[in-house]
Amino acid sequence: MTVKVSEKLISEVTASVEDIQLYINGEFISSESGSSFQNINPFTNEKINQVAEGRAEDIKKAVAAAKDAFEKGPWSSMKISERMKYINRIADVIDEEIEKIAILEAFDTGLPVSQTRNMTARSAENFRFYARMVESRLHGDAYQADDDFINYTIYKPLGVVGLITPWNAPFMLETWKVAPALATGNTVVLKPAELSPISAHILAKVIDKAGLPKGVFNVVHGYGESAGAALVAHPDVEAISFTGETSTGTEIIKNAADSLKKTSMELGGKSPLIIFEDADFERALDAAVWGIFSFNGERCTANSRVFVHKKIKERFVAALKERVANIKMGDPMDPATELGPLIEKEHYSKVASYIELAKEEGCEVIQGTVPDEVRAGNFVPPTVFLNAKNEMKVCQEEIFGPVMAVIEFETEEEAIQTANDVKYGLAGYVWTNDLKRGHRVAQAVDAGMIWINSQNVRDLRIPFGGMKKSGIGREGGHYAMLEFYTEPKVIHVALGDHHIPQFGK
Ligand code: NAD
Repeated sequence: MTVKVSEKLISEVTASVEDIQLYINGEFISSESGSSFQNINPFTNEKINQVAEGRAEDIKKAVAAAKDAFEKGPWSSMKISERMKYINRIADVIDEEIEKIAILEAFDTGLPVSQTRNMTARSAENFRFYARMVESRLHGDAYQADDDFINYTIYKPLGVVGLITPWNAPFMLETWKVAPALATGNTVVLKPAELSPISAHILAKVIDKAGLPKGVFNVVHGYGESAGAALVAHPDVEAISFTGETSTGTEIIKNAADSLKKTSMELGGKSPLIIFEDADFERALDAAVWGIFSFNGERCTANSRVFVHKKIKERFVAALKERVANIKMGDPMDPATELGPLIEKEHYSKVASYIELAKEEGCEVIQGTVPDEVRAGNFVPPTVFLNAKNEMKVCQEEIFGPVMAVIEFETEEEAIQTANDVKYGLAGYVWTNDLKRGHRVAQAVDAGMIWINSQNVRDLRIPFGGMKKSGIGREGGHYAMLEFYTEPKVIHVALGDHHIPQFGK
């Protein structure tokens, strides 16, 4: 669905972009060192604005503010109904500014504005969802032992939590962590991705406008190796929730070990989409195309490997060629644009090098054509690797661009075995009209989440996350709330005068 966005609003909003500061203890401030870095527009490769560069000393300040707000402020001990008023107010403020946020997100990331609009709406829903979850599901259990004892559990917030987020869908992913963290009573230091800092700045403004107590929410912009690493190492940070590359996740787990932190890891993927010969062909084709070419292919759950049954492969490839040639590349601000530029030049070069590698590995490469008028942007055209073999490097490594490998299979066993022959296990998609086969394959494929005859439709109640090298732990639903952002505490109560051993009497 194409959402119309007014051109006047786009030019007003993009012209009003300001330089970005850190948000610590309820104030927008410069970094201690006074240094800053440039934020670049992926469509023009021109500077958008300057961003304050936080380092260890700024992280220290932000953590101190968050700790103070947790220990001395009202946030964690506030009545739940009152805390949820703030959480719902954040959602209301996002909704009031939804068009503006969607435009700025597209401006900053190169994602088409028609797609950032939906993600911004989802961001508001993240807060409303967790307000409802905390009110209805944040409760413990009771374990009675005859008339002797009762043990009951309560769930307590952790304290200061550190949230580290990537650039690919920044506003949605930031709110997906911030909402459960705050709703459960924690205070937060967010370190957003340096390549897409605008939406975290907007979130700070939104939260400021919603009137949360000072220090409850803080944002430190900066690089991963300095600001991010300092947040991970800080002894007063109780937990780190991270979304990003698998190699960064490994580094963070190592660094978090010294201060024995809880970590949640949402990492990379190389997800299979398997199409059997009996599948609803057109719907499977729509899903395969959307699943890799929406979000500019920079989607963790993208179906970057498509397994097609031998009997329908020729038809599928012919249809795919037609779609690839028709996908509209262009200005992310144009509501008709389907595929925008990649986030930065370096990422563009990485994706382009995988396309060269595919040729060397023996694939036939088919691509759309980048229009001349957008050549200043980091455009990789929609790309398909034909004659791909699962063992090729281009089928084993996450490319994170609009690039899909097509792999032929003949039997169900072969499809499962090859789909699983990869280090990742985030998502998977199965297309068949054979009910039993659909369930069988879905259960056999290594993935945290499998969709049967559907695309990546999200239900916020489900556990979101991956297995193998795609992650540890789950976000979403009550899982984030009860298994990550809170600590269960047991209270044991004697109901009668049970026997107590009498030592030394
Ligand atoms: P990245 O790992 O390069 O960076 C993510 C964040 O980590 C950034 O904020 C970065 O500054 C920070 N960082 C980097 N080094 C750090 C360090 N040593 N210590 C602490 N922080 C550090 O990832 P990216 O390139 O921004 O994002 C793309 C990746 O994210 C892809 O692999 C994609 O699959 C993954 N992703 C996963 C999910 C999921 O839910 N599983 C969702 C979205 C994206």
